Amino acid sequence: MKVALYGKGILGEKVFRYLVSAEGIEVICICNDTLASEETAMVFADTIYDAGQVPIMDFAGLCDICNRGEADAVILATENGFLDFVVKRMVRHGLRNIAVIPSYYEEDYEIEDGSFIWVETDKPRMSYIEYHISFHCNLKCAGCTHFSNIIDEERFGDYEKFCNDLIRLQEFFWGISKIRLMGGEPLLNPELPKFIYAARSAFPDADIRVVSNGLMLRDHHTEILEAMRNTATFFDVSMYPPTRGSINNIYKICKDNGVKLTVTSDVEEFMARMNLQGDSDIAEAYKACPSSHCNYLYDGHISTCVMPQVIEIFNKKYGLDIQPGEQDVIDIYEDGLDGYKLMERLKSPMDICRYCDVQSRFYQWFVSSDPLPDEWSSKI
Ligand code: SF4
Ligand code: SF4
Repeated sequence: MKVALYGKGILGEKVFRYLVSAEGIEVICICNDTLASEETAMVFADTIYDAGQVPIMDFAGLCDICNRGEADAVILATENGFLDFVVKRMVRHGLRNIAVIPSYYEEDYEIEDGSFIWVETDKPRMSYIEYHISFHCNLKCAGCTHFSNIIDEERFGDYEKFCNDLIRLQEFFWGISKIRLMGGEPLLNPELPKFIYAARSAFPDADIRVVSNGLMLRDHHTEILEAMRNTATFFDVSMYPPTRGSINNIYKICKDNGVKLTVTSDVEEFMARMNLQGDSDIAEAYKACPSSHCNYLYDGHISTCVMPQVIEIFNKKYGLDIQPGEQDVIDIYEDGLDGYKLMERLKSPMDICRYCDVQSRFYQWFVSSDPLPDEWSSKI
């Protein structure tokens, strides 16, 4: 098989070395693309390594070679954040046989034949989904936007349904850029490793994160740590004030177990932006919303953000009747749906956006022992 390689920097070189040593593969050119991404406003600046006699060419040259039928496939090795942009650009230029190598192979993961993902070019790539591994939480932050601080009983994601939903999403999308497994506190769910493996197996291209306040992580969580390491999943810690005292221990556990750790900057403030009157201008509230891209999946349903699928927790706690609109929550098993239609609908404001304000109220983070509905309100 003759392949053209689109890949610079450390990852590109690692893939190049793998390809030239693989039986039956000939690398016929390497693309040195310098175009800035219109979507990310970043420039592909990585350097090209010593590729011996293999010719280096620009993007137009790569397209010519492929369109003349001289390459059987293009291998794409670039940062996760650029993949969608580059694949779309290749497809626009008539390239079809495209295989992607996920960017986490830049690190300590060995490339094998099965590491390459063939892009189904008739499907889009989804940018983001989040999913509740646990609904409840060990930390009860006032104004938690997922209402995890007002759930008193244990409530977990359903593993079987999660797997089915991932299969359904595979029908729509060739990949997903980022998957956040969260809550609530995901470490409370003893089945967390199974969810991690399922997400990785369905979407090998994804940047997967276990989003946690970090307080419960212990050395003896060997299965969770192994699952994160084996699947190149990040442990993504939100630095709430109580987390600061544990961060050195979290860092040590992750380091000792080969788990990739990311930590947010110190969280001093939370933001309240609900309008409990429900009379906000929907379009304006949506336009001002920092969560409008946080597409939330649960039990066969997906919504622009988490709100329409968790508002029942708030209603139940306070005897309210805030209802999502009929179109706010999309049944992913609906007839006639495809990835493009789904993405279009998820880019739209929802009826329930009228319960969010355009203005936000910022307040010092605190744990609320007896939370009142006003704690979520943009105005007090
Ligand atoms: S730690 Fe996160 S999920 Fe838990 S209550 Fe606080 S904000 Fe909500
Ligand atoms: S309901 Fe609408 S405005 Fe409110 S957080 Fe969700 S997307 Fe944003």
